[in-house]
Amino acid sequence: MNIILLGAPGAGKGTQGDILAKRVGLPKIATGDLLRAAVKAGTLLGQQAQSYMDRGLLVPDEIILGLIEEKLGSKDARHGAIMDGFPRTIAQAEAVDGFLSSRGDQIDSVVAFEIQDETLIRRMIGRAGEEGRSDDTSDAIRKRLQVYREQTAPLLQFYEERGVMARIDATGSVDEVAASVAKAIPS
Ligand code: ADP
Repeated sequence: MNIILLGAPGAGKGTQGDILAKRVGLPKIATGDLLRAAVKAGTLLGQQAQSYMDRGLLVPDEIILGLIEEKLGSKDARHGAIMDGFPRTIAQAEAVDGFLSSRGDQIDSVVAFEIQDETLIRRMIGRAGEEGRSDDTSDAIRKRLQVYREQTAPLLQFYEERGVMARIDATGSVDEVAASVAKAIPS
């Protein structure tokens, strides 16, 4: 089973992805975490990605697609995966469709996290203090929200039209949102 968690930065996809991964027994693949690990390790890929991330821009598709195909093709993901932060563009969505269909697989469910901008900004500013992420400055946060609206939000319609999408209210507590995710993706 392949599941996508779709939503703006700060919507809680990472937290819910961990809970869902444990419940359904699939690995979570978070492209942001993979990129941050590459930056920390100082790999060439990390060096290429960092300047985009710090500015709140999307990392180019060729970098992301290599990363995701490696993870989706790994033994851990042979029964599927939960994708957090990917796809973020229509081109990425089409590429993952192609990759999955080449092995007779598909995207089964998309959970869309719905939440207002003010709540997102509040959460991200709070998180900046705790995690010290270099892209949690107010300029980068604003840019990431703009990039989400322009480049990622069109995926809502893309998956809606395929009939695989469930929209959930992402404003409640972690437990409340987890319950909504569980309704959308029963074990
Ligand atoms: P957030 O959802 O809070 O922005 P992420 O950890 O998902 O946090 O992403 C952090 C940054 O990593 C993004 O702003 C972007 O630069 C990069 N990134 C993550 N996933 C992708 C992706 N699928 N395509 C392009 N860039 C990505």
